[in-house]
Amino acid sequence: MKMVKYQGKGVYGAIAIGKALKWKREDVQVKREKIEDVAQELERLRNAINKAMEQLESIYEKALEEVGEANAQIFEIHRMMLEDDDYNDAIVEMIQGQNVNAEYAVAVTADNFAEMFSAIDDSYMQARAADVRDISNRLILCLKETGEKSLIADEKVIICADDLAPSETVTLEKDKVLAFVTAYGSSNSHTAILARNMNIPAIIGVGEEFLNAIEDGEVAIANGFTGEFILHPDEEILEEAKAKQRQEEEKKELLEKLKGKENVTLDGTKINIYANIGSVEDVGAVLVNDAGGIGLFRSEFLYLGREDYPSEEEQFKAYKRVLESMASKKVIIRTLDIGADKQADYFNLDKEENPALGLRAIRLCLTRPEMFKTQLRALYRASVYGKLGIMFPMITSTEELEQIFALCEEVKAELTADGLKYSDTIELGIMIETPAAAVISDQLAPMVDFFSVGTNDLTQYTLACDRQNPKVDPFCNIHHEAILRLIEMAAQNAHKNGAWIGICGELAADTRLTERFLRMGIDELSVSPSFVLKVRDVVRKLDLHNA
Ligand code: PEP
Ligand code: MG
Repeated sequence: MKMVKYQGKGVYGAIAIGKALKWKREDVQVKREKIEDVAQELERLRNAINKAMEQLESIYEKALEEVGEANAQIFEIHRMMLEDDDYNDAIVEMIQGQNVNAEYAVAVTADNFAEMFSAIDDSYMQARAADVRDISNRLILCLKETGEKSLIADEKVIICADDLAPSETVTLEKDKVLAFVTAYGSSNSHTAILARNMNIPAIIGVGEEFLNAIEDGEVAIANGFTGEFILHPDEEILEEAKAKQRQEEEKKELLEKLKGKENVTLDGTKINIYANIGSVEDVGAVLVNDAGGIGLFRSEFLYLGREDYPSEEEQFKAYKRVLESMASKKVIIRTLDIGADKQADYFNLDKEENPALGLRAIRLCLTRPEMFKTQLRALYRASVYGKLGIMFPMITSTEELEQIFALCEEVKAELTADGLKYSDTIELGIMIETPAAAVISDQLAPMVDFFSVGTNDLTQYTLACDRQNPKVDPFCNIHHEAILRLIEMAAQNAHKNGAWIGICGELAADTRLTERFLRMGIDELSVSPSFVLKVRDVVRKLDLHNA
């Protein structure tokens, strides 16, 4: 058979070679039927909701074990959606008002809600449309009294689907899945996030033609690095893919050997390699990959995907757990960086013309001091459990820092008055992610213990390229000399004033720049946990004396 190549987007880098299997979803087609006994139909609906709630509970437990709490939370959200009054009332009213069967009422309500979510100009809310369809399909299957779907295959396969709902992804029997490939989907969807966390090679957005072309059992290659899906590969391509697979395995094994080794160049220059995390669950990956500390804990993830602010106690527990797990290693927690692309309804943020230039991060915290102080209290209280650094995002002026420090002093005084302890060796630092901060880094450096360069935002603000807009990618040279000079300027000013400087944006893992960063005197690079050993490898091969 002729080899065919399809191009999608790789969301987890690894290569799978094996038989393709089309994902057959349970039939959720429903017919409109007239019912006589409304009370009985409502009783059926109630039973189905209970059953669906039980299923979601056990999926949540499974996800908790496999992908951690932060990722499992989506199923808690599904449970909340199933209990949502507006959703339930709409179904009940339809059954009562139109004497229709529950399946039909659920299907229509699902369409209405999904459309409503899709129409909202917010990618997080748009993604909820898929969730409402997912819970509604589950409810319909429960009404039809069909069992939970599970994959039946006696060997490992590449799952090919139009799209996979988060609940489907997590219920896949992991030991039978080589990879999954979907016709649709976005890289920010929960499904993509789950794939990354489950370490399953995955490709999304291949386009729907590929599904028609597949017969179950045909050999295919899913290349999660390039996003290529190849059906009926010829001998040569197959051998190439196998060789690449072996290479990746060997690379992994070689990197394993670097565990426990120092991050030191051939000429003896040392650098710290830390890891970035978004939740308490990520600490496992930090330890497994032998990072020297946590250079960026994006604390805003504690605030996302929920209905209300996390309490001081909840935050304290999260920070304490990370600090304790890292033992004596440094943990830098960044204060809330909400706004722009990271939104949560309960903040009630005004719609802004240019949210990336709007009331985000520290600006929001300084306009809501009580909210900010709750986080600071949690951080200061947790500080006695490890080696804490607190870092503030989106700084542009010394005045902002003065205001922040005044709030820190208030928090400390309040904690003392409450008889609560905090460490007096907390390091305070700022992110250098605006050109303004880099340019006045001589004034900012004497005020702080460290700088951490957020190259993601520093790039967007320096080159005037919205990081959310793929159309400006061609104009966004991430190695632009302007960015590198700003980093160098900040490094010199940090060192002149006894502060240290790290980089925690994506550029920190760009090994084409490792040498340049070392030459600038950067003290720390903070990267995704899975890049720690790769960067260590590059550092250990450099010789700065040999220009
Ligand atoms: C950055 O801007 O580089 C950064 C690390 O922060 P975030 O990506 O969370 O904005
Ligand atoms: Mg940033």
